[in-house]
Formats: sequence, C-alpha cells, structure tokens
Amino acid sequence: MRSRYCRQLQRALGFRFPLPTRRPLLFGPHRLMKPLVVFVLGGPGAGKGTQCTRIVEKYGYTHLSAGELLRDERRNPDSQYGELIEKCIREGKIVPVEITISLLKREMDQAMTANVQKNKFLIDGFPRNQDNLQGWNKTMDGKADVSFVLFFDCNNEICTERCLERGKSSGRTDDNRESLEKRIQTYLESTKPIIDLYEEMGKVRKIDASKSVDEVFDAVVKIFDKEG
Ligand code: UDP
Ligand code: MG
Repeated sequence: MRSRYCRQLQRALGFRFPLPTRRPLLFGPHRLMKPLVVFVLGGPGAGKGTQCTRIVEKYGYTHLSAGELLRDERRNPDSQYGELIEKCIREGKIVPVEITISLLKREMDQAMTANVQKNKFLIDGFPRNQDNLQGWNKTMDGKADVSFVLFFDCNNEICTERCLERGKSSGRTDDNRESLEKRIQTYLESTKPIIDLYEEMGKVRKIDASKSVDEVFDAVVKIFDKEG
C-alpha cells in the first residue's frame, strides 16, 4: 500500500527516490546513540562529586550522583520511598536497586530525549554492591555500555576527615562519625569487591585521591584525554 503510493508519487514527480522501508529508524532517540557510562567509585569523601563537576566542565558528560538522586527522592513528599531511603542513608546501608535504577534510568532517558548527542554519563556512587550490579546488568543489558570505572582511591582516615569537615555545612544526615563508620564498613564489605570485579575485567582506572583537588584532577585529565 505504502509502496504503491510512493510509486504513484514518483511518477507524478517524474523522478525516482528511495522507497521507505519498514526498518526501525536508525536516528531515533536511543537507537543510534547508546548511553556511554563511566562509573565513579571510591569511599565516602574520596572526592567523587567534586571531580565529577570538573569532568562535566571539561568533557561535557552528564553527572548523575546516585546519592543525590536518592536524597532528592527522599525530599519528594509524594514518594513512597522517602522513609526507607532516609533510614538506609543514615545507617550507611544501600537502598534496594529497583529504586536507584529507576531514578538513574529516568535521568538518562530525560537527558537523551532532550539531546540525543548527550550520551556520555558519569554515574557517581553506583554500583555499590552485588544487588546494584545485578540490577544494572538486568535492566541495562544492551541498553548502555560501561566504558570504564573511575576509582578514587583514598584511605579511610582522610575520607573520614573530609566528610566531617563537609558535615559542618553539608546538612547531610550521614556526615557524622557514627554514620561514617557504617558507610566505610559498607564500602569495604560491599563496594570494594565490585571495584575488584571490574578490575579483573581490566575496566578500572585508579587514581590516588588523597592529594589536592587540582592534583587529583590532573590525573583525571590524563585518563579522559586518553579514553574520551
Ligand atoms: N546510596 C545508595 N545507593 C546508591 C548510592 C547511594 O543506597 O547507589 C545511599 C547510601 O546509603 C550512601 C548514601 O546514599 O551511604 C550517600 O551516598 P553518596 O554517594 O552521596 O555518598 P558519598 O560516597 O558521595 O559520600
Ligand atoms: Mg558524593
């Protein structure tokens, strides 16, 4: 039917043009441009957020902080997950992946719908445990590619000091000594093994994050200049 109409049109116009096919559009959102993801991991206070802001300025990534998205969701009075999220955050525990993934996915979809070219994402503070990783693999399999894991390596003492300093003004309910101990424990028990898994796949780019912001960023630049 469609091709008969096209042929009539070709005759009327007096020249031939390629007939449309029923193949899916190659240029629709999410079809050609798959999201390219860099996971940004490291202990609490390792400097993930600070460095991500700089990476966004220099390399045009979209920064998605899983922790920030959860804090926003907690503030949303219509959310049914507010209390659960608050409890997890305060206890340094990890929120069930369904919640985190749905927030991340919504942001990625929105960014790419607004501009298909903007397909490079920094996902900061995720995946933090096996549940997160499995949820990601299940939901995002074939839908996004993980380029590499940027690992900000910093010892616990420095991390704790930085978070306590930040706690003076951050207003975060988890930047206190009690929550921090739990967060560090969760990091060592649950997140570090995920980094190790990616390391085995040759996907980790490790940075000494105990130095100054500028020095750490110099190391970050070396990696992004090479990797894109
Ligand atoms: N969180 C979570 N899942 C995530 C990311 C964060 O459950 O994927 C929770 C967790 O309780 C964590 C808190 O949010 O301790 C704060 O995370 P954020 O990444 O903001 O902390 P940071 O490591 O940057 O200090
Ligand atoms: Mg952060």
